[in-house]
Formats: sequence, structure tokens, C-alpha cells
Amino acid sequence: MRTAVIGGGWAGLAATVELTARGVPVTLFEAGRVPGGRARTAILDGRRLDNGQHILLGAYRDTLSVMRRVGADPDALLDRRPLQVHDRSGFRLALPALPPPFNLAWGLLAARSPQMREKLATARWMRGLEACGFRLPVDTTVAAWLDAGGQTGTLRHQLWEPLCLAALNTHPQCASAQVFANVLRDSLGSRASGATDLLLPRVPLGAVFPEPAAAWLADRGAELRFGHRVAELLADDSGVSVDGERFAGAVVATAPQHLPALLPGIATATAFEPIATVWLQYPEAVRLPFPLFNLGGICGQWVVDRGNGLLACVQSASGAWEVLADDELVAALENELGFGHADWHKVVREKRATFSCRPGITRPGATTAHPRIVLAGDHTWQDYPATLEGAVRSGLRAAHSLTGTGYTPPS
Ligand SMILES: Cc1cc2nc3c(=O)[nH]c(=O)nc-3n(C[C@H](O)[C@H](O)[C@H](O)COP(=O)(O)OP(=O)(O)OC[C@H]3O[C@@H](n4cnc5c(N)ncnc54)[C@H](O)[C@@H]3O)c2cc1C
Repeated sequence: MRTAVIGGGWAGLAATVELTARGVPVTLFEAGRVPGGRARTAILDGRRLDNGQHILLGAYRDTLSVMRRVGADPDALLDRRPLQVHDRSGFRLALPALPPPFNLAWGLLAARSPQMREKLATARWMRGLEACGFRLPVDTTVAAWLDAGGQTGTLRHQLWEPLCLAALNTHPQCASAQVFANVLRDSLGSRASGATDLLLPRVPLGAVFPEPAAAWLADRGAELRFGHRVAELLADDSGVSVDGERFAGAVVATAPQHLPALLPGIATATAFEPIATVWLQYPEAVRLPFPLFNLGGICGQWVVDRGNGLLACVQSASGAWEVLADDELVAALENELGFGHADWHKVVREKRATFSCRPGITRPGATTAHPRIVLAGDHTWQDYPATLEGAVRSGLRAAHSLTGTGYTPPS
């Protein structure tokens, strides 16, 4: 009997790829018309653009590996560079191409703007975190954690807080310090070579994984049903029923807000944060000094140079930008960027881009009350905020759980 996967985002696709590779016949149900979920490519004003600018890291090892499995070459599709953080105040942290931890040590010591005393205090704080395995005795907010760690100077405002906002899509005043520490553990604190590298898509996101995955799956006989929103999921001793069709088991890989419709009563995240991506097309000669720039300001947070004059400005988490109409948001960004009026623009707002990653929130794991129904999705990978890597890992774990094989995430 076939297995059902409900949800064709990166989690559901990763689960379907793993099940198919293990010889399990799968039917994938996806409500949308294209694969990718919250990380997909759409046609916007006749251009192939992403619903939101995405940034990957070298630490996304399972994502890179599942890409390779479906024939999507990360080296060709992603622009890999050692991490740099630049902003308008003149702050600059650039990690050199040295093995960890020397890259971070050198990057911190050479950072432009903070005083040497602060750099040394931050290096000691990072060493202390490493010594306790990045485990906090009790979770708190990122702001309170930084206060307690004496991180109150330039590095807090130009590095830790912008990184928290980018990684957790939640303001430091309410974001989970433990989840942020987990992110630091696997990036800046990792001894794995290249973990801190930035990987910026060179192509629309659909071509990075969702579309190659769908083609790979179709070639291997997986049944892909786009435009099918599952309305009913029932389970009994002999398997599960999806909209009346029988399956041996099911992976439910929807976003948290869609979970209770299929599994009533399940406890899951209920607070969400928005993201807006403002696409601005300037003349081809317009370039940023480094393809990722911390714009700060009330509107622009990060801006990514996509090449040929196309900039993606990302507004993360709830904030002042939300009340601005599209034209006002574009005008404010044009002003902050200082390149004049863009030739073309498009604002894409995702109201429930991610769950709000706060201390103590309810997040389910993989298991449910029924052994043949397994959960996947970024929110179920409790170690991480909402990320592509969390989504992919959760999908792989769900597939292994249904096939009775063990899954060990990269360490
Ligand atoms: C604008 C934006 C920017 C982001 N930036 C980054 C970034 O830079 N780096 C990063 O790592 N992460 C980023 N993220 C987060 C990342 O996109 C998500 O963590 C990831 O895509 C979640 O994947 P998923 O498969 O868990 O869920 P989803 O992508 O939400 O997939 C769930 C799928 O289930 C489908 N579905 C729901 N209900 C049903 C049903 N009843 N029947 C059938 N199908 C159903 C939905 O249509 C959807 O396609 C960003 C997210 C957004 C929105």
C-alpha cells in the first residue's frame, strides 16, 4: 500500500524523496499549484521571482545533501561566500577563509567599529557558550540573555540583534535565547568547515530544490497531486485514510496553522511573524559592496543583491513597516538605499511567514497519537527556528520513522 505525504513544502518534499529512495510508493498531496510551500518561486508581473528572499548557510548540511540527491548541484545553484556583515554605520565583520574557530577569532578581532575590549569580551562569551555546549540553564529572551552575558555594546546592536532577527524572525526582546544559542552552536560556534558560509541562491528558489525534487520524484513513479487540499485524515489499526483513499501511513508536513484542520486538538504554535520582501529593479550597474547588507532603518533590514540591478529587501518580524502601504514601503526603502527610484518594484507580504520563536512555545515533535501518522515541517524540528534546514531534517526524520530506520542529523 502507498504512503501519503500531505504538504509539498521543503519538509514534505524531503520526506517524499527519502521514502521514494527507500522504495516506498508515495502519493504527495499539495494544496498549491507548485511545489515549495513558503519557499517557492512564482510568476510576479511576468518575472520568475521568489515569494520571499531566502538565505542558506553552509550549516544546512541535510538541505545540501538532499539537493544533491535530486540532481540539484549546490555549487552551481548557490553562491557560497565566507560570512560578512556590513551596515550603514560602517560596522564590518568579515570572516576570513580560515578553518574554524580561527575564522571567527580573526573576524571578531578585525571587526570594524567595536573597541578591542568589547571584542575580547565577546570572544570570551563565545568560549563560555562553547564550554557549556550552548545549553542555557533556563530559556529566556535573547535580549535578557545578551544583557546577562554583558553583550551590551556595538556587537550586540550590529551583530547579535540583526542575526537574531534574521534567523528567528522574532525580535530579540521576545525571541528564544535557547533557539538562538542552537543557531550559534551550528554556525559561528561550529567546528565544521564552511558552516558559517553564506549561500545565496543564484537562481529562483524553485530551481534550487522544489522543482528538481518534483521532477526526480515523477521520474521514479511518485504520484504528485498539486492543487489538492486534503480535507480529512482518519486513522485506524490497518492504516490511514486521506480524503477517503487508503494508505499505509501518512506524513503530515503542513505549516502549524494548517495542522489542526487535519489533526483536531493537536497542540501547536499559534503566534506568527510576518516577512515582506520588496523586489526593486535598478539599472544593471547598481551593485552592493557585498551581496548581503544590513540596511537597518525602520523599513529595510537586510538587502540582498541578486545581480543585474535586482535587489531584494527583507523586512523581518512585526514592526513599523507593516502599517505602510506598498508604495510608502517602496519609497522608504528607495530613500534608505540611496540609488534613486527603482525602474520596477514588487512587494510580497507573507503574513504568517514563520511561527514566532519565543521561549516556552508549544511545538510538536514527529510523533502523534497514531503510530502511522508522523509529523514534519519546520515547526516540528524543535532545535531550530523556522528554517529550510529544520524543514528538511524534519522531513527526513518522518520518512525514517515510517520505514523503521533511524535518522541522525549532522553533528
Ligand atoms: C518570506 C520568507 C522568508 C524566509 N527566509 C528564510 C531564510 O532566509 N532562510 C531559511 O532557512 N528559512 C527562511 N524562511 C523559512 C522557510 O521558508 C520555512 O521554514 C520552510 O519553507 C518551511 O517549510 P515546510 O515544508 O515546513 O512548510 P511549508 O513551506 O509551509 O509547506 C507546507 C505545505 O503544506 C501545504 N498544505 C497545507 N495544508 C494542506 C492540506 N490540507 N493539504 C495539502 N497541502 C497542504 C501548503 O500549501 C504548503 O505548501 C522564510 C520564510 C518566508 C515565508
